[in-house]
Amino acid sequence: MNNIQNIKNFSLKEFCTIKVGGVGKVVYFPRNVEEISNLIKEFSMENIFPLGIGSNLIFSDGFIDKVFIHSKNLKSYEVIQENEYFYLILEAGVSFKTVSNIVKKYNLEGFENLSGIPATIGGAVAMNAGAYGSEIFDIVEEVWWIDKNGNLIHSKKNEIEYSYRHSQFQKEGFVYKVKIKLKKSDKNISHLIKQHLLDRNKKQPLDLPTAGSTYKNPTGHFAGKLLEESGLKGFRIGDIGFSQKHANFLVNYGNAKYEDLIKLLTLAEKKVYEKFGIKLEREVKIVE
Ligand SMILES: Cc1cc2nc3c(=O)[nH]c(=O)nc-3n(C[C@H](O)[C@H](O)[C@H](O)COP(=O)(O)OP(=O)(O)OC[C@H]3O[C@@H](n4cnc5c(N)ncnc54)[C@H](O)[C@@H]3O)c2cc1C
Repeated sequence: MNNIQNIKNFSLKEFCTIKVGGVGKVVYFPRNVEEISNLIKEFSMENIFPLGIGSNLIFSDGFIDKVFIHSKNLKSYEVIQENEYFYLILEAGVSFKTVSNIVKKYNLEGFENLSGIPATIGGAVAMNAGAYGSEIFDIVEEVWWIDKNGNLIHSKKNEIEYSYRHSQFQKEGFVYKVKIKLKKSDKNISHLIKQHLLDRNKKQPLDLPTAGSTYKNPTGHFAGKLLEESGLKGFRIGDIGFSQKHANFLVNYGNAKYEDLIKLLTLAEKKVYEKFGIKLEREVKIVE
């Protein structure tokens, strides 16, 4: 037993951006490495699910028998300047919004393409989140993480396994802290960030609950285009559908059910395979 802040039998809908899901066994909110380590030792990593703001997650309805570790109490950061370079050392729960504010304040380049992604730094590193031709591992230098034995590990970028929307942290351990490297810029970074936000607003259904891109882009293709050409743009089952604005975004029109969502994904994968011979790979993480 421990006395770390937690909520038992909690509503999973409140912990993801698409607002689908039933009840989770327990969610803990550790405040430091020691508390994360103690949780991993007490419950063991295979029963644990690390949680950011849930912007890439879909929870099933019913009861999910997992111990969730949320990063909302891990929000400290440091800014270190060395000549024209700036190093940000960010705890897992620091949001991309906070990082955007830092880069705007010091006019730093390297993060601007990622600025509109709704993410925590921990979730973004686990997912190797990316946009507009950049990904978070372009700027990551080092990661401190807690392994399945509860030990704090310090890894340099070249020791970490990552690829398109993937990193080793999706399977092992909890990302505690990340160091990113940015550079003082001659460009107007605030302006570039604003342009990206406007572009996202134009292309993405940000007025409805969503989990972002449903599928990864298959090599040489755009998942959204494949879905659109398979007649799925705007197609819905019950309260879940592929957005009218962007076919690769699932949106919740009110009270979406997990069962309908799975039916929709199964149908989409079948249709795209029949039409193009391409097996879509899910980018969203389904948690059951
Ligand atoms: C409107 C919208 C737009 C989006 N646009 C983009 C985009 O342009 N590019 C893009 O890549 N994604 C995009 N996404 C998806 C999502 O924002 C990213 O995948 C993001 O990185 C998820 O961050 P999170 O903190 O919410 O993680 P979560 O969704 O909570 O978790 C995602 C994964 O990371 C793991 N995780 C979370 N925190 C930790 C931790 N501390 N340690 C270890 N593992 C952890 C989880 O276990 C899970 O496997 C978008 C989503 C939405 C809703």
